[in-house]
Amino acid sequence: MRYISHVMKTPEILSPAGNREHLETACLYGAEAVYLGVRGDTNLRAGARNFSLDELAWAVSHAHARGVRVYLTLNTYPHDAQMDGLPEIIHHAREIGVDAVIVSDIGVLSLVKEIAPDMTIHLSTQANTVNSRAIRAWAGLGVGRVILARELSFGEISRMRAISPVELEIFVHGSMCISISGRCLISNYLCSRDANQGRCTQPCRWDYALVERSRQGEYMPVEERDGYTFLYNSKDLCLIPVMDRVMALGVDGLKIEGRGRTALYIATAVQTYRKARDAYLNDPQGFAVNPEWMQELGMISNRGYFTGFFLGNPDERGVNYDFAGYDHTHHLAAKVRATKGEHTVFEARNPLIEGMEGEWLSSKGFSRKIDFRDMAVDGCRKERIRPNEIFEMETGFAPLPGELVRKPYSEGDKVVQMREETCMPIRRGQAHE
Ligand code: SF4
Repeated sequence: MRYISHVMKTPEILSPAGNREHLETACLYGAEAVYLGVRGDTNLRAGARNFSLDELAWAVSHAHARGVRVYLTLNTYPHDAQMDGLPEIIHHAREIGVDAVIVSDIGVLSLVKEIAPDMTIHLSTQANTVNSRAIRAWAGLGVGRVILARELSFGEISRMRAISPVELEIFVHGSMCISISGRCLISNYLCSRDANQGRCTQPCRWDYALVERSRQGEYMPVEERDGYTFLYNSKDLCLIPVMDRVMALGVDGLKIEGRGRTALYIATAVQTYRKARDAYLNDPQGFAVNPEWMQELGMISNRGYFTGFFLGNPDERGVNYDFAGYDHTHHLAAKVRATKGEHTVFEARNPLIEGMEGEWLSSKGFSRKIDFRDMAVDGCRKERIRPNEIFEMETGFAPLPGELVRKPYSEGDKVVQMREETCMPIRRGQAHE
């Protein structure tokens, strides 16, 4: 059965931006909006680097110059003492032209309406909106877009979309809570770090055992499967396999989770969803999921993928029993700093050795193999490059500043021996920013 949208909207691709590099990467690789937070306890990724108020102004200016909208997350549930810093942030957001603020708490919503009545307000997924009456109630309070709870099926979202008076946004990719988002106290209980204050330590993904009090150190097996006890270790959401249905919904935003992840994750996820969305828009009748899209997403960190609640309540196939951490086949080798013709200056992000192969990810949507050969640092040829070292190399083409080069991840990368090398001067033209 084909799912063809009668609405034919172009839902924006929303990227996380946990730091400046994320934001630059998201803009370069095709995001149409980014969501970010300021430092402190006003957003649900307190562990990300986030932005100072000055950096926020830079972020808005950088994104707007590239036609990208900026949404500011103020989506914690603050207690009275935590409300004090919010007026300054809201004033600042209005002055610098933030496109919308994302709130969860009705008190924060009323504060935004009071200080910045014209500011567009998005309701965070943390508000757990799962029915149409709630959407209408929030709309009546001035919310312009509702970011729906992740725990909804295609049919439910379809019905809600049909009668919603405001914009709707859904998550399409990234981490899932085993609990309904924001209704979880495990981290608070075990680590005194509150998930609703942006400080979740993700203890739902830990490997648990049973210990009898008088037998410390003796772990009794509590095995779910094959020796593992990941009671709540949810896989990551990925809606690429059902992208025709996602597009048929006619929602306004497709959101990627991951403000704590890497620039390579941002570039790959944003570009993949942008390709899938555009493929559908170009030819809804002939749309088919390109297997390369899932291959791309398998290269970046993930806990295994599933379609969440989109096709109905997930069963045990939504839980990863195999490992507690992240899986990925590739990591970031280097980032382009500057180019001049076919001569390129890179910043290494992982150890590189003469002869290694990488893959340049063009922001135009294609990739190309690249050999790390004849690398030079300050005019000296080097066979080994350390992480964060700036090096130069002939590439045979001209990548754009900010574009990324990935390479297959191998255990050997961890143990590359970095010995001092004798300088072997080389002659080349100079690159410029
Ligand atoms: S502990 Fe797990 S389920 Fe609970 S809020 Fe954190 S990520 Fe979500």
